[in-house]
Amino acid sequence: MAEFSLSLNEDQLQLQKWIHDFAEDVVRPVAHEWDEREEFPWPVVQEAARNGLYGLDFVANAFADPTGLTFPVALEELFWGDAGIGLAIFGSSLAAAGIFGNGTPEQIGEWLPQCYGDADNVMLGAFCVSEPDAGSDVSSLRTRAVYDAATDEWVLNGTKAWITNGGIADVHVVVAAVDPALKGRGQASFVIPPGTAGLSQGQKYKKHGIRASHTAEVVLDDVRVPGRCLLGGKDKLDEKLARAREAGHSGARQPAMATFESTRPGVGAQALGIARAAYEYSLDYAKERKAFGRAIIENQSIAFMLADMAMEIDAARLLVWRAAWQSRNGGLHRGEGSMSKLKAGRVAVWSTERAIQILGGYGYTREYPVERWHRDAKIYDIFEGTEQIQQLVIARAISGLRIE
Ligand SMILES: Cc1cc2nc3c(=O)[nH]c(=O)nc-3n(C[C@H](O)[C@H](O)[C@H](O)COP(=O)(O)OP(=O)(O)OC[C@H]3O[C@@H](n4cnc5c(N)ncnc54)[C@H](O)[C@@H]3O)c2cc1C
Repeated sequence: MAEFSLSLNEDQLQLQKWIHDFAEDVVRPVAHEWDEREEFPWPVVQEAARNGLYGLDFVANAFADPTGLTFPVALEELFWGDAGIGLAIFGSSLAAAGIFGNGTPEQIGEWLPQCYGDADNVMLGAFCVSEPDAGSDVSSLRTRAVYDAATDEWVLNGTKAWITNGGIADVHVVVAAVDPALKGRGQASFVIPPGTAGLSQGQKYKKHGIRASHTAEVVLDDVRVPGRCLLGGKDKLDEKLARAREAGHSGARQPAMATFESTRPGVGAQALGIARAAYEYSLDYAKERKAFGRAIIENQSIAFMLADMAMEIDAARLLVWRAAWQSRNGGLHRGEGSMSKLKAGRVAVWSTERAIQILGGYGYTREYPVERWHRDAKIYDIFEGTEQIQQLVIARAISGLRIE
């Protein structure tokens, strides 16, 4: 077990600087442009791939860190540069995590590299759970997967909503109901290989923020995939279904509420990057901007806002680092993953709003980045489990009761 320490080791410090430089030199200068274009920033992702930041090796190395802190440190720096572009670079990791979490070693070996490709041929992954009528309540998925024993194929039908990289990804990991009566315990994950017939992109959403990240519907119309695309394999699924039928509905859990606990600190770290960007920018601005013959920071009302921002950001980082360390060393027991994501999302929304206040009229215009950061921050109250779902996870964990 790694010791918990607030001092980053030499490797982590180097990585932090490397990603900070990338965020400052490559990401920030084009962030406004890609936000306005609302398009996937291919050239930036390709540059990240050449640089070694986008790719399976990077993710595997970060994941191998026994302290668990490498991921949050990396994500905070990249998202400090820009959250939309950050998600374009890290969106494939959701699919990779889905494959890594559920696949056999052979499946991991086959599909994980195809979520990233290489510097000459960048590939993308998408993780498709949410549906138009099932977001927080993922136990109610309507997408069906039916086994065709004659051909040893699975046939998938349904519509997925809000999918990061949906339709432009090479590998789509789709969660579907095999036995809908069993709710969450009757579901399985499937890899839809590149170029599979029947999978298409539905509407592309026009969003409030993180507009460089591509979010779209994914339509599955009689999509046929070979049996080996069922993650974990059929024997394991059959056993799981048999156990679930035996237990009845009493043991049903909502996966969105529990299984993502260990990835939530990373999501919190992304929000932290946005919050820190807004804090640093407004601190500098407050020292420069003059009103009534003095720098605005000389007013306590402005200086105290910045003091609170510094404190809240540090508090959120402590929760993120604690949860990241715990998820690698001894587990998360009291909803600590949810606490870290909930706090960091709220701090990002609040800090970016305060930053607009500090910049006054300029903060409200697209000439300055703080209004973009505010728009970007809001997604952290919504995706990867809304604020209320995080509260539900924490409330259940601390009470031991099935709070509804
Ligand atoms: C930009 C973006 C990217 C996304 N990327 C992906 C992706 O890559 N893959 C994917 O699968 N999904 C993705 N999502 C979907 C996202 O995870 C869902 O939007 C989210 O889980 C919320 O679901 P919903 O939108 O259906 O809201 P709902 O579940 O309908 O919730 C609406 C409101 O009701 C509240 N609520 C719901 N249930 C409860 C309850 N039991 N108690 C208290 N309050 C409750 C919620 O907190 C929320 O305030 C993305 C979403 C967005 C916006």
